[in-house]
Amino acid sequence: MRLSRYFLPVLKETPSEAQIVSHRYMLRAGMIKQASAGIYSWLPLGFKVLRKIENIVHDEQARAGHIAIQMPTMQSADLWRESGRYDAYGQEMLRMKDRHDRDMLFTPTAEELVTDIFRSHVGSYKDLPLTLYQIQWKFRDEIRPRFGVMRGREFYMKDGYNFDLTKEDALHAYNRHLVTYLRTYERMGLQAIPMRADSGPIGGDNTHEFLVLADTGESEVFYDAQITDLKFGTREIDYDSHAQCQAVLEEFTSRYARTDETHDEALFNEVPEERRRQARGIEVGQIFYFGTKYSEAMGATVADSDGNRVPVHMGSHGIGVSRLVGAIIEASHDDKGIIWPEGVTPFHCGIVNLKQGDEEADGACEALYASLTALGLEPLYDDRNERAGAKFAGMDLIGLPWRITVGPRGLKNGVVELTSRRTGTSEELPPEQAIERIAQIYGRAAV
Ligand code: ATP
Ligand code: MG
Repeated sequence: MRLSRYFLPVLKETPSEAQIVSHRYMLRAGMIKQASAGIYSWLPLGFKVLRKIENIVHDEQARAGHIAIQMPTMQSADLWRESGRYDAYGQEMLRMKDRHDRDMLFTPTAEELVTDIFRSHVGSYKDLPLTLYQIQWKFRDEIRPRFGVMRGREFYMKDGYNFDLTKEDALHAYNRHLVTYLRTYERMGLQAIPMRADSGPIGGDNTHEFLVLADTGESEVFYDAQITDLKFGTREIDYDSHAQCQAVLEEFTSRYARTDETHDEALFNEVPEERRRQARGIEVGQIFYFGTKYSEAMGATVADSDGNRVPVHMGSHGIGVSRLVGAIIEASHDDKGIIWPEGVTPFHCGIVNLKQGDEEADGACEALYASLTALGLEPLYDDRNERAGAKFAGMDLIGLPWRITVGPRGLKNGVVELTSRRTGTSEELPPEQAIERIAQIYGRAAV
């Protein structure tokens, strides 16, 4: 993309309404625009990051054998009356009537709808296990929407639902989701720690929240510092193997890590004092096992191998896709702007032309642009007639992890400059080598 043709409405002033750094940078970098309280339009740069995060979530769900569907945002109240949650949900549910005076609502979550799909089409244990998920906009009429996309009223969420014959199988689904979530967050450059949590209105006793440590987080957390050394990394897991998924769960949840809702001071004090940490965290996901709560209420049964109808065991699993955009910025920025991890960056690298209009500099930039594009990479080329300082400040704000700077002086020596946004270190090297390095970083074979 050429910046001169892009739509990147960068703000010069720091917006006064933004209290936390991710919100400030998202507004300043032209990623979002508030439409009304807790409701945002996603502008091109923000939308690209949202899509990158969404794609990683889809990719990791597919790896685990989970199946994507799409359910509507508008739902009839009838199913929610069946489960008893129409009355129980309270004011966070946005309710409305259609022209026939029927009660409708904007989906805050989708246990009821997916259970209805299940009971209509699945009747035998032979069709299990089954995990259906979607990535869809949700609405919760939060009493205090704040921090930009972190606590919106409308937000984008992955919600998945597993259906299993036995409790044992459903607990395997729970463990499998824990594994997929660890991989998912790491691919986004994040450490999200599974912590024992409270199940709230969804019900059930097995639940973990995934928290990204950040001072601006809304949750108070308590954990054993050893937990931050754990990395899932690139290990290959057989998702069908109960033992393998169970082992990962044990590895990542055996140390003390709890939110304030489940915090137990006596247990915490068993952790050696120098490893005890109290901090704040951002909840970016949660997994639940809740057994037969919805399947019994809504008649979601299958025939077991003896032909008896039994209610299925279920769980649900959520990832805050839009919240993650803010959470990643909270975890990765400096005083100049955002620093995108490579896995979610909106453009793979920036190209800064120090002397727009100079034949040689323009030609070198065009050649870099063409080569990177041919590798399947997306560069953002700042081809505007602007001062170098303004171009650098803009690139730093929008946070592309790599920048190639091209100017007449370097070109005389046959070099361009490759700069890491994270470390700030620069290296002069011939254009072909700069391309090779970028290709390597993103796992593309140079042509
Ligand atoms: P919270 O405790 O933050 O209100 P929750 O526990 O009610 O969230 P879940 O039902 O577990 O939320 O939803 C799954 C994920 O969706 C959460 O882990 C979070 O990342 C995200 N999420 C929930 N509410 C919001 C919101 N208002 N704005 C943005 N993301 C949200
Ligand atoms: Mg939650």
